[in-house]
Amino acid sequence: MLAKTRGPVTDLTPRAPVRAAPRPRDGRSSKHVQIRCFTVGRFQVNTYLITDPSTGAAAIVDTGETRELVERLATLEPKPDIRMILLTHGHTDHAGGLTYLQEVYDVPTYLPRAELPLFERLPEQGTWFGAPQLNRPCGRIDHLIDDGAQIQLGALTLRFVSTPGHTPGQGCYVEGGDIIVGDTLFAGSVGRTDFPLSDPALARKSLRRLFELPGELRVHSGHGPVTTLAKELAQNPFLGFLRMERRTA
Ligand SMILES: [Zn+2]
Repeated sequence: MLAKTRGPVTDLTPRAPVRAAPRPRDGRSSKHVQIRCFTVGRFQVNTYLITDPSTGAAAIVDTGETRELVERLATLEPKPDIRMILLTHGHTDHAGGLTYLQEVYDVPTYLPRAELPLFERLPEQGTWFGAPQLNRPCGRIDHLIDDGAQIQLGALTLRFVSTPGHTPGQGCYVEGGDIIVGDTLFAGSVGRTDFPLSDPALARKSLRRLFELPGELRVHSGHGPVTTLAKELAQNPFLGFLRMERRTA
């Protein structure tokens, strides 16, 4: 597969994460939103269940590439009232399980518009990475979203922030003090840009933009532990360019 320095299990995941990863945080919640993390599949991707406690309305963010998320959601009591599926980007570990979810949850599904060219290649993505068994059908997309799009989930309003680079249209979902970033940023690392349709220059631009958001935002990444923007700006070894730009600005 593509990575030169890592085994096959994490090839779609970050370059060498620097900090050890304490394991998830199911049930992490603030007063007005509950964000539960389910780490699934061969790539140990973090998928999320966002719930508005005031109405019970819930959204799935990302899918894994197997049926594992479907199986884990099926064990929850009370059953989540899933109203929508949101995708951060179209890599198979984040979107490859969409058809499995849609068999059970026939709900509106959202994809960043600029991500379509990658998403539509799900049937061949496994082959790109030397693992044709991970080729997947595309599933159904109901809404293509652009930067600034607002999505209502019960009483919550999720805002979509486009952060392309790792992929052509990858983006983040912000709600209150939380941001789900897909593979834009990780604790101690950033999304790889050596994949087909990646764009390193665009990724830097997106990171610049991401870090204009408040530092206290809790960052829920596509792989690895929760962090904050402030912590990453201070410590992330892949953000030296940002620290330098800020010192000289
Ligand atoms: Zn990815």
